[in-house]
Amino acid sequence: MLDAAVIGAGLSGMYQIHRLQALGLASQGFEAGADVGGTWYWNRYPGARFDSESYSYGYSFSAEVLREWNWSEHFSPQPETLRYCNFVADKLNLRKHFRFGMRLVSARFSDGENAWSLEFDNGETVRCRILVTAVGPLSAPVMPELSGLETFAGEVQHTGLWPKGEVAVKGRRIGVIGTGATGVQVIQEVAKTAGHLTVFQRTPNWCAPLNNRPISAPEQASIKASYDRIFRLCNETANGFMHDADPRKALEASAEEREAFWEKLYSEPGFGIWLANYSDILVDQTANDLISAFMARKIRERVRDPVTAAKLIPGNHGFGTRRVPMETNYYEAYNQADVDLVDLSETPIECATPNGLITAAGEVELDLLILATGFDAVRGALDRIDIVGVNGVRLKDRWDDGPVTYLGLAVSGFPNLLTLVGPHNSATFCNIPRCIEQNVDWVTDAIRYMAAHGYRRIEATREAEEEWTSHVFEVAQGLLMTKTRSWFMGLNANIQGRDKPRLLVYAGGAPRYRERCDAVAAQGYAGFQLT
Ligand code: NAP
Repeated sequence: MLDAAVIGAGLSGMYQIHRLQALGLASQGFEAGADVGGTWYWNRYPGARFDSESYSYGYSFSAEVLREWNWSEHFSPQPETLRYCNFVADKLNLRKHFRFGMRLVSARFSDGENAWSLEFDNGETVRCRILVTAVGPLSAPVMPELSGLETFAGEVQHTGLWPKGEVAVKGRRIGVIGTGATGVQVIQEVAKTAGHLTVFQRTPNWCAPLNNRPISAPEQASIKASYDRIFRLCNETANGFMHDADPRKALEASAEEREAFWEKLYSEPGFGIWLANYSDILVDQTANDLISAFMARKIRERVRDPVTAAKLIPGNHGFGTRRVPMETNYYEAYNQADVDLVDLSETPIECATPNGLITAAGEVELDLLILATGFDAVRGALDRIDIVGVNGVRLKDRWDDGPVTYLGLAVSGFPNLLTLVGPHNSATFCNIPRCIEQNVDWVTDAIRYMAAHGYRRIEATREAEEEWTSHVFEVAQGLLMTKTRSWFMGLNANIQGRDKPRLLVYAGGAPRYRERCDAVAAQGYAGFQLT
């Protein structure tokens, strides 16, 4: 019987196993993939890269890793990030604590034993006292329903399951479905070499320039010398990024001031235009309309054909109310003669054929179809495991009307289950590693506390869960994002039953979340029943 099992060898799982091993517990990690890396292991699609400043994304806990690792770009590409994960795994000797190629299919809690029985897809079973899920918030890929897809003679790849070997792009006729943060990255990359690219867009997003560049040698030295300041800054901001809302209000600034401020943000690297903007743009419709008009003008300036530009301007949601895709020459790709934009609201896809896709406007012949159609966000990876708690209740069923959690880390009726980056956890709305480290540290402390006091069971109370879930809804009130369709709101037209908004993220800010978690721990894990 293990003291603890950790599911997933992404950034959460790697750090969690490192901490549990240091505690001297019998702990073991399990990972469906063949190696470490999580998101960065699976999402190998062309153009995948950070939207967070590289040096704000890496782990902060190891001085040795910080000293030895060099990021090459301000927003590093996926191959480098995967190398980073491997570097950390080697340095901390983590691989020996994981078993790879094992996907957890079911977890059943035994009330009598206060233990979980785990069953993996290779038929193996494992028992553990504490089950820590580190399965990632964007790791359950979703396929579109596309009739006839099985007849398509070309190649089909989902961005979140991109194969290790090379997928040929050069000179091929490529179709991309999806224009979220992933689609935008892949489109701007494959447009460079594809023979012909057709983008199938259902909903345009408000994209902003990443303004990436290589890190020079003097910058590298300065970054290394500033890690304390960088991580302190990330700790203080609402979402763990190096950007925080400007306290001024758009509606109090003059038109000239607004224009100058927005031009500045538009030319700066990273999420500043989204997260370091005037404090009212994400809550006040009039302020949001102004920034949306600014962003729409930028699209019109950058896309030569006014009809295409109009199709790329979102009409059903304002700027920043969904995750802002960061781009590099994304809009300019549509100026290429070999790139077409199909607006699915005008010409929907009817079916796939052996040659490609048929839309209401005719057949588009393709050699490669890329599905950038996203994920069953935040809860999907948990739902895909048959998790059965006390009295035979399934987690999936418990969450029928949307997730209910305590701190986004625990669910009543599911003792000894701790869900890193679970629904309603601040890590869902964060520069994720910053919040992952907090989650893992908190879980490790809780496990240590249990061991020190001889407790064998930790379970969130119904009352604490109800209070936290109401708090999650309360802090999101007034945010324009709650009126918009997106994965933040748990909406996904490709999944049955995901047609009603069910908030999945914690929008109260990482500092507030951290304070709450610390207070819970300081009060002897208030809101948890320890037995
Ligand atoms: P997403 O934001 O959910 O976008 C999925 C896209 O596919 C949307 O444009 C969606 O259209 C479209 N789509 C889905 N099903 C469709 C169908 N049946 N027919 C036509 N279009 C369809 O997923 P994502 O782009 O993979 O991004 C998910 C999240 O991952 C991001 O929000 C971000 O948090 C994270 N991410 C991070 C990075 C980074 O940090 N570098 C990069 C990529 C992604 P609708 O909008 O109409 O539903």
